Amino acid sequence: METIILIVVIAVVLLGAAAGLVVNGRRHKQLPPPPPPDTTLGAPTRPAPVESRPSAEPEAEPQVEAEPEAVEEPAAVPALDIPEPTAGRLVRLRSRLSRSQGSMGQGLLSLLSRDRLDEDTWEEIEEVLLTADVGVAPTQELVERLRTRVRVLGTRTPDDLRALLREELLTLVDPEMDRTLRTARHTEEDSPRPAVILVVGVNGVGKTTTSGKLARVLVADGRTVLLGAADTFRAAAADQLQTWGERVGARTVRGPEGGDPASVAFEAVKQGIADGADTVLVDTAGRLHTKTGLMDELGKVKRVIEKHGPVDEVLLVLDATTGQNGLVQAKVFAEVVDITGIVLTKLDGTAKGGIVVAVQRQLGVPVKLIGLGEGPDDLAPFEPGAFVDALIG
Ligand code: GDP
Repeated sequence: METIILIVVIAVVLLGAAAGLVVNGRRHKQLPPPPPPDTTLGAPTRPAPVESRPSAEPEAEPQVEAEPEAVEEPAAVPALDIPEPTAGRLVRLRSRLSRSQGSMGQGLLSLLSRDRLDEDTWEEIEEVLLTADVGVAPTQELVERLRTRVRVLGTRTPDDLRALLREELLTLVDPEMDRTLRTARHTEEDSPRPAVILVVGVNGVGKTTTSGKLARVLVADGRTVLLGAADTFRAAAADQLQTWGERVGARTVRGPEGGDPASVAFEAVKQGIADGADTVLVDTAGRLHTKTGLMDELGKVKRVIEKHGPVDEVLLVLDATTGQNGLVQAKVFAEVVDITGIVLTKLDGTAKGGIVVAVQRQLGVPVKLIGLGEGPDDLAPFEPGAFVDALIG
């Protein structure tokens, strides 16, 4: 009996244990199902691929595909600046001539309006013109003409005087000079090629800045431009020029630092021909006009470029604030290269607007562009009428 009871107890215990195993086994089976494959997380973010693939694989694709597109696109198409139109720039920038306006234009008007125009007053008038850098000979001419005309005029109303002064200053600035910039592509059938502009001047006058601004002027006028960074002495100059170019979509050809400027200039024109550019603008190294070797090298740059055809414009950049020193530079440069136009920079920072007259007289070459500030569109085609109007206010 006892044995039977013992067997029953053992049987119950064994059954209980067996029942527990089943429960445990069931518990395993009842655990929450494993998380769905990650693919189901990614899938809703993009349409099902056309080629169906195993569900585990596409999970990474949406992220890989989506991101680079968003990042790369803007870099591939940089936004270009749209330079201001060149027409009317001088009128827009006329207030930048306020220093010259105050001391030269207004100074002359108030002296001429005095009740008595005695010798002292005429001397003061002369002084104003000389201080504004008009130069000795043009000053004497102007004073003579003003003396005669004021005498003939008799009574002097402010309007009469203003009109008279405007006319005489305009004559002095010489509206007859041809200030056209030759920047149009040569279309002769046998040798179509870009117009070539060479920009020269001493260090610090604003040559590279002017080249950059001029590229914008040309782009604004609808030209395709290629830049040549022939200032190989200063790596920063080539970088500076390239940055200017990139802003308006103009390519820059540059050479190794310290390389031969003439060969960079040659390559730039060659590339401009290959690209079918309208205008190639070559910025040369700033140089001391007193160093014969450097000046000779500039002559070489021009000669080497001319293997492709004549240079259309040689623009001499002069800093208007340097006065007589600028005139000395102009003379030396003119001996080495045939200058076809002057760019007077920094007229916004000086009262010496009369330098326009002096430099044209000295070289017999017109001022074609003036710099009136450091902004990218602060370079204006020189218009005698607008300039004189700005001077007398
Ligand atoms: P470079 O050595 O002749 O190439 O001279 P840069 O082009 O490097 O210019 C020298 C400095 O003159 C820079 O700080 C320019 O911003 C400044 N500059 C150039 N043109 C003008 C201008 O018309 N007005 C003023 N205020 N500054 C100018």
